[in-house]
Amino acid sequence: ARASVLAEPAGPGATKDGHAVPLLANIGGPKDLAAALANGAEGVGLYRTEFLFLDRAAPPADSEQEDAYRKVLEAFPDGRVVVRALDAGADKPLAFLPPPSDEPNPALGERGLRMLQRHPDVMSAQLRALARAAKGTTAKLQVMAPMVTDSGEAAAFAAACREAGIEHPGVMVEVPAAALRARDLAPEVEFFSVGTNDLTQYACAADRQIGGLSHLQDPWQPAILDLVSYAAKAGVPCGVCGEAAGDPALACVLVGLGVTSLSMSAPSLPLVRAALARHTLAECRAAAAAARTSRTAAEAREGARAVLPGLA
Ligand code: PEP
Ligand code: MG
Repeated sequence: ARASVLAEPAGPGATKDGHAVPLLANIGGPKDLAAALANGAEGVGLYRTEFLFLDRAAPPADSEQEDAYRKVLEAFPDGRVVVRALDAGADKPLAFLPPPSDEPNPALGERGLRMLQRHPDVMSAQLRALARAAKGTTAKLQVMAPMVTDSGEAAAFAAACREAGIEHPGVMVEVPAAALRARDLAPEVEFFSVGTNDLTQYACAADRQIGGLSHLQDPWQPAILDLVSYAAKAGVPCGVCGEAAGDPALACVLVGLGVTSLSMSAPSLPLVRAALARHTLAECRAAAAAARTSRTAAEAREGARAVLPGLA
C-alpha cells in the first residue's frame, strides 16, 4: 500500500508534459475544508453558499456570512477561491426566498441569478460580505453568478460585483444559450465555470432529479462536449465545476477541449490528478476529438478511453 501511495503524483495538477491544470474543490462551507486540503486541492472552484442559507426564515446576518467566507479564503492563502452567489430555487429551495407558487416547472423558473435580480438586497448583502471577508486575506477571490443566460445578465452581475468591491466577476455556463453564445458573454466577465449538471439537464431536457432519466443526464453526450468547447474557446479562462470534472477520463477530455481548471468533490481529486499526470496534452486533445466525433455517449466514452493509455 505504501508503494502505491508513493507512486501517486502529489502537488499541483498537470498533464504528463507539464501543462498546468489547477485542481480545485467543490465545497458547501468551512466544514468541507479539511477534506479539500487533505486531498491536495489548490483552491476552491465552487463554494455552494446555499448551505449557509438553508433552513432559515431569514438570510444569515452579514457578520455570519463574512465569517464563513473568511474561513474559506484563509484556508488557501496562495490559491484562489471561487464563490458562487446564492443559487436558490428549483433543486435548491430556500424557505425565505420562495419562487412564485404558480410556477409549473421550477427548473425553468425563477432560480439562480433570476432570483437574485428579484431580491437585489440579498445579492448586494452577500457581495458586500464577500468583499469585506477578502480584506486582509491573500487568496484570489472570484465570484460567479449561477443560471446566467445572456450577455446582458453577465454584464449586470459584473457591475453589481464591482459596485460591491469584488474585482474578479465570472459566470457559470449552465444554460445552453450561454454556452452557444459564450463569445458574447466573455467580454463582460473574467472567467467562466461550466456547471455540467445543469448544462446536461437543460441541453438534454432531462430533469436532474428524475433518476429514471439518468441515461440522458450523461455529460459524455457529444452535445454536451460541443457546448463545453464553445465555452472553452470564447477567450476567457474556463473551468468545469460539475460532476463531469471528477470523472478521470472525462477530465482528460475536458482539458483536451481547452478547459483551464477542474473543480470537484474532494475525494475525486487524487484520481483526476493521477489521470492527468499519465497523459500529455496532445493525448487529451486526441481523446476530446475522438469523443466529439462520436454519435452517442457510450461511443464517446469508449473512443476517448481508447486513446488514453494511462487509465486504469
Ligand atoms: C452544476 O449545475 O453543474 C453545478 C456545478 O451546480 P449545482 O450542481 O450546484 O447546480
Ligand atoms: Mg447548477
